[in-house]
Amino acid sequence: MENKIRTQAMNEDIPQPIRSVDGAGATDFGPRDVMRDKENPNLLVPPITDSGLIPNLKFSFSDTHMQLNQGGWSREITVRELPIATSLAGVNMRLTPGGVRELHWHQQAEWAYMLLGQARITSVDQEGRNFIADVGPGDLWYFPPGLPHSIQGLEEGCEFLLVFDDGHFSDLNTLSISDWFAHTPKDVLSANFGVPESAFDSIPKDQLYIFQDKVPGPIASQKVQSPYGTIPQTFKHQLLGQVPIRTPGGSVRIVDSTNFPISQTIAAALVEIEPGAMRELHWHPNNDEWQYYLTGQGRMTVFAGNGTARTFDYRAGDVGYVPFAYGHYIQNTGNQTLWFLEMFKSNRFVDVSLNQWMALTPRDLVRDNLHVGPELLDALRKEKWPVVKYSHVNENDT
Ligand code: MN
Ligand code: MN
Repeated sequence: MENKIRTQAMNEDIPQPIRSVDGAGATDFGPRDVMRDKENPNLLVPPITDSGLIPNLKFSFSDTHMQLNQGGWSREITVRELPIATSLAGVNMRLTPGGVRELHWHQQAEWAYMLLGQARITSVDQEGRNFIADVGPGDLWYFPPGLPHSIQGLEEGCEFLLVFDDGHFSDLNTLSISDWFAHTPKDVLSANFGVPESAFDSIPKDQLYIFQDKVPGPIASQKVQSPYGTIPQTFKHQLLGQVPIRTPGGSVRIVDSTNFPISQTIAAALVEIEPGAMRELHWHPNNDEWQYYLTGQGRMTVFAGNGTARTFDYRAGDVGYVPFAYGHYIQNTGNQTLWFLEMFKSNRFVDVSLNQWMALTPRDLVRDNLHVGPELLDALRKEKWPVVKYSHVNENDT
């Protein structure tokens, strides 16, 4: 038995916590979850440059509680799941055709990215102006804090990512219309609306949260005319429809209050990294970064100063986090294009490029600080390239 276990453990398909470059580590014959080790090769065998006590910066939606309702499901990553992520919280939600995330509101702003299918969103503001729009893949929406809204799946249903500007937010703890009705005396409802109490005989007894409804008719058939008009600053934006910043290796689309004026508290970038390319070494001088991985797989190393750095592996459906100003880069480690979202609690998307910083600093200073020669100094680039790929470099290294 012992021999059999050892033979299995030495099998090439089973990764071992041994670093090839220096031989550090030893085999693991004990209880272990090999599938998870395979998904996290950089936790099992950290690069030799990793060091120190950086907290966990990864959580997968696959490790969260699924809220299953008639009409859809939701799951969330908040400070409960990922304690360092205090600036933003995220919810992944699916609505069936006709499925409704009920009429509700909350203290936090809501930013959303449409992943699949189509949905109809509605809202009304404090001036009595209303908003209704249909959104599809690559579109996003933003509901300011406190404004009521709803989401409904259209013919094919839909799936989306919601992001809130507070890590303590929970989508299961919002202010819902059914909940308020259920917890208001019927005589008060009667007095408020000027109708008999019997009008409220069949209201829901508790919060619905998500419920199944019929697929709504065309948007034109659902419009409600407000005497105060429609909301002047749109709550919808077509992010994937933007012309991206393209560099060798990928592309970036940035959305913040400069091109989507209503989005005053959440800024984002949609990043595409081709196989073999990487999001360059950089940091953000405004706030923490909350990431959602859409396709492919990659790894990120975060540098926190004082000799500390830690590497994590990510794949579609994972959330990553980078504390304020920590240096980082993200490599595509798979054969597929890696797409992910970077999000910030801020009205602006801002980043500092290590390469550009060095290129715009006196050459002698950089040379003497890093003990580097013209090979590097001549290659520094004054223009920012968020994604990089140098096909001619390290061709013979493997
Ligand atoms: Mn909401
Ligand atoms: Mn970043």
